[in-house]
Amino acid sequence: MVQEISILEHTATLAKYMDLNQNGKVIAEYVWIDGSGDMRSKARTLSKKVTDVSELPEWNFDGSSTGQAPGHNSDVYLRPVAFYPDPFRKGDNIIVLTECWNNDGTPNKFNHRHECNKLMTAHASEEIWFGLEQEYTLLDPVDGSIYGWPKGGFPAPQGPYYCGVGTGKVFARDVIEAHYRACLHAGVTISGINAEVMPSQWEFQVGPCEGIKMGDELWMARYLLNKVAEEFGVKVTFHPKPLKGDWNGAGCHTNVSTASMRVPGGMKAIESAIEKLSKRHAEHIALYGDDNDLRLTGKHETASMESFSYGVANRGASVRIPRSVQAEGYGYFEDRRPASNIDPYLVTGIMVETVCGSIPD
Ligand code: ADP
Ligand code: MN
Ligand code: MN
Ligand code: MN
Ligand code: MN
Repeated sequence: MVQEISILEHTATLAKYMDLNQNGKVIAEYVWIDGSGDMRSKARTLSKKVTDVSELPEWNFDGSSTGQAPGHNSDVYLRPVAFYPDPFRKGDNIIVLTECWNNDGTPNKFNHRHECNKLMTAHASEEIWFGLEQEYTLLDPVDGSIYGWPKGGFPAPQGPYYCGVGTGKVFARDVIEAHYRACLHAGVTISGINAEVMPSQWEFQVGPCEGIKMGDELWMARYLLNKVAEEFGVKVTFHPKPLKGDWNGAGCHTNVSTASMRVPGGMKAIESAIEKLSKRHAEHIALYGDDNDLRLTGKHETASMESFSYGVANRGASVRIPRSVQAEGYGYFEDRRPASNIDPYLVTGIMVETVCGSIPD
């Protein structure tokens, strides 16, 4: 209670300063992906409003403090690749997504965007679109238990929570609502949100986004979620199985289409893509998230990790063709295997390589 009052007081005090004139200066928050799949950021002042990414200066940080470089050679460079209106500072202030580069001119080892971008460029003519369904779980900031659950106990079994409405069925709707608006303000292509099967588990969808934009926008949406949750004093985890037992895990279903799948008769292209995916199951699984074996058990609306399967409207298959797509004969397919903690650059990268490439038998 003491903590809640002080958060409210601080918020009211801060509001006075947020309105102050910036005298034409712009604050750019540079964001990057660190050595463990978390995000980091720091801010700098720019002299004027930015209209193109090429106007943004390269920057650097101490990679030895983030597990991204050794102490004796610690500078890692931040190369801006996209920017978004900042929903927190508002005005002309921006959030800048960057790639990490080493000072010898090679991509930093956790910079998976660079390779992904090459693959997307090589297959640009196929106009690949993605839609990612990011599931995540909220945690208590102090003891790390599931947010809103009875201390030392459990809520009633799963059933009433998925898309639930009403007290005791949903938790932290205010956080989710704030994140939704923040994404819209930033220009992230957020296409929806819903409460998930496990209480305090939620999902947002980003897409359809073409090519490299998918990874960029998903990372930005995650950044915004972490930032919003920080303000509300709630923790976010992207772990695919935050709680063992009869509680759903968290995934990042990956919806995919190419230009040839999106026109009448496109089912042929969808079937051919699924055929190719079936031949690279293990290679895909290797990039589909850490601890995904705890989630892909064949229970809780998942397929077993051991083998590849697909089906129409089948939520227990590796790949699902939505019923409406089957009925119309064209559209997209859904890869249900990726875990919530994927790097979307790795997943969309191997996806375009498999679906748009020719795989030898
Ligand atoms: P589910 O029924 O599996 O819960 P959702 O509605 O949560 O599906 O998510 C579907 C996702 O598919 C959305 O992100 C949407 O943008 C995306 N999507 C829709 N059409 C296409 C398409 N043609 N290609 C790729 N993604 C698509
Ligand atoms: Mn310093
Ligand atoms: Mn969904
Ligand atoms: Mn879901
Ligand atoms: Mn889905």
